[in-house]
Amino acid sequence: MKMKTNHEMEVIDCPLCGGPESFPLHQEGSFQMVRCSSCQFIYLNPRPTSEFLLRFYQDYLPENGSSIKAWQRMMEPVFKKAANLIQQYKEKGELLDVGSGFGFFLSEMKNRGWDVTGIEISQKAMDYARDVLGLTIHPGPLEKANFPDNYFDAVTGFYVIEHLPYPMVFLRECHRIIKPGGLLLLRYPHTTPIKNLLQIFGIKNRLYDLPAHLSDFSPKMIQRCLEKIGFGKCQHLIGGYTFPGDPGKRTASILFGSLSEALFYLSGKRFLLPGVSKTILAFKSNLS
Ligand SMILES: [Zn+2]
Repeated sequence: MKMKTNHEMEVIDCPLCGGPESFPLHQEGSFQMVRCSSCQFIYLNPRPTSEFLLRFYQDYLPENGSSIKAWQRMMEPVFKKAANLIQQYKEKGELLDVGSGFGFFLSEMKNRGWDVTGIEISQKAMDYARDVLGLTIHPGPLEKANFPDNYFDAVTGFYVIEHLPYPMVFLRECHRIIKPGGLLLLRYPHTTPIKNLLQIFGIKNRLYDLPAHLSDFSPKMIQRCLEKIGFGKCQHLIGGYTFPGDPGKRTASILFGSLSEALFYLSGKRFLLPGVSKTILAFKSNLS
């Protein structure tokens, strides 16, 4: 059931399980994150329509040269870690990056000998990746690109899944286009534990980045979704941390990033500090 509350917002059922019942969790301005009563998924409800979001993303990424450079510096440590991780399993092959932005991760992988393709809905970011970096980029969404079955050795999505209105459709499509034995790497924020903590102290914040983020996956939830679709082995890790231009944010990122990495390794790769971004690797079974 879909009911429009005004011309650009819609009330939705749970995007994961279709359950109609939810309860309010956190408010940011006029936006509200809710928790599904049946599967516990946390999502924005009501949320902007797809038409609104497509327009919204035309101005989401930075535009001028120096802020694009700052963006590159911010993401570089995470991209390098992910590239090394992928190469532990496969030296070279076909790679697709969904939400490829300006193309810096694709560029890194291309330099390492991979054949790379991107998907990006922001026209300006796509232009940069094509014209400046010489990359092949399809306009999104992924489902419209019509890639063949079992085509890619690796599909990646950095900070993408939390922006998608239909995450299961996306994950199924990833599974379809990945080769048996190939891998999916997703990087995602996990904000709810920090929101809960700050709420105790009455600290106002906009950490969910609403309405850009449509949901907030926990490690358990994302793994459950991947397994439901048929991905075999899943492996979580912290996967490094970003290097924001803003000094305050940078300090927080380095502090919590290195703390979470240390705790992860000290716990024998078991403990994932709640609240920091994480990377998950999922493999398509050789039998599928
Ligand atoms: Zn649900």
